[in-house]
Amino acid sequence: MKQELRSKFGKYGGQFVPEVLMPALEELTEQYDKYKDDPVFNEELNYYLRDFAGRPSPLYHAKRLSEEYGVKIYLKREDLVHGGAHKLNNTLGQTLLARYMGKKRIIAETGAGQHGTACAMSGAAFGIRTEVYMGARDMVRQRMNVYRMELMGSKVIPVKSGSQTLKDAINEAMRDWVANVETTHYLIGSVVGPHPFPTIVRDFQSVIGKEVRMQIMEKEGRFPDSIVACTGGGSNAMGIFHPFIDDDVDLFAVEAGGSGMKATDKEALHSATLCAGEDGVLHGMRTKVLQNKYGQILESSSIAAGLDYAGVGPELAYLADIGRIKPRNSMDSEALDAFHDLCRFEGIIPALESSHAVAYVKKTANTGELGDLVVINISGRGDKDLETVMGMRK
Ligand SMILES: *Cc1c(COP(=O)(O)O)cnc(C)c1O
Repeated sequence: MKQELRSKFGKYGGQFVPEVLMPALEELTEQYDKYKDDPVFNEELNYYLRDFAGRPSPLYHAKRLSEEYGVKIYLKREDLVHGGAHKLNNTLGQTLLARYMGKKRIIAETGAGQHGTACAMSGAAFGIRTEVYMGARDMVRQRMNVYRMELMGSKVIPVKSGSQTLKDAINEAMRDWVANVETTHYLIGSVVGPHPFPTIVRDFQSVIGKEVRMQIMEKEGRFPDSIVACTGGGSNAMGIFHPFIDDDVDLFAVEAGGSGMKATDKEALHSATLCAGEDGVLHGMRTKVLQNKYGQILESSSIAAGLDYAGVGPELAYLADIGRIKPRNSMDSEALDAFHDLCRFEGIIPALESSHAVAYVKKTANTGELGDLVVINISGRGDKDLETVMGMRK
């Protein structure tokens, strides 16, 4: 059965882009619609997901953490996917799609360098030229990821305008796409941006939730009571949530509450867009945005770079409004505690992003809110975060 591609989720989503980009978005929509259920495309994608990325990722019963927190916990191990996070699911899908579309070049933008690294992996695996825009300041802070991308044959282009960070890199990538739409695919890294990106990225990440459906049935003979995932742009969350949307499973989207040391309540929830954002337009979509009363974007902050985003995917904004997902948040210090718990009790070093989801389970397991059986999406591994954690030793 062919489902129509929705350009809007309630009042959210849409295509708020310069006129010159509309043909590119239309072409992408058309081509994605053509290939998404194509058996040859899907066979090739599944081959790479299995033999290159290492899927399916395990669903692991965390016995000792369950005992400690007082609720039965399974961990979806996206930290074991090649590259150490869920991001490759999406970059493999989009890079393959670009190849089917006849594009010769991939461009992307990256902040902490995780998405850029996943693009470099896919680019090398498919032999397609890959160029990644990165703020010059971010390049200094994340020089290991810059080096990784270069090792895998990608070109990293320093962006020296504005604050020399992610938002400037996004502007440059957009400019490049406008100038080179014929040959180039712009590979967006989360369920954000203009339609059809939020849908494309959600679909490619849904492999996570599809696997969980089968794995939990095999292990428990039933679906979990709740699923908990950290949320920056929202791709690992939508990926694990989407296949359960029509089921009786509670879905918790845990955002970064930051340090809690800010002047106002709104600023205190500094990357918690679903919790504290208001309607606005950002990066080509209408969504919830962290903004001041003039509509100026607030600078977000979190110890987890991947959660540090002033917007959120439009579908998540919609699902929050209709009450289908439950937006929550964890503070930096709570995430850090949970990080140490998972290290000590399970021998798993999680990403600081994923630690926000674990932290929410820790603080609410005994309230009954999560039920008896919980799946936590461990979106990535924490090796990249060790310097941050060492700097914050308890
Ligand atoms: C990038 C990243 C995130 C945040 O991105 P989403 O699109 O919200 O999933 C979360 N965890 C890890 C490990 C990441 O690398």
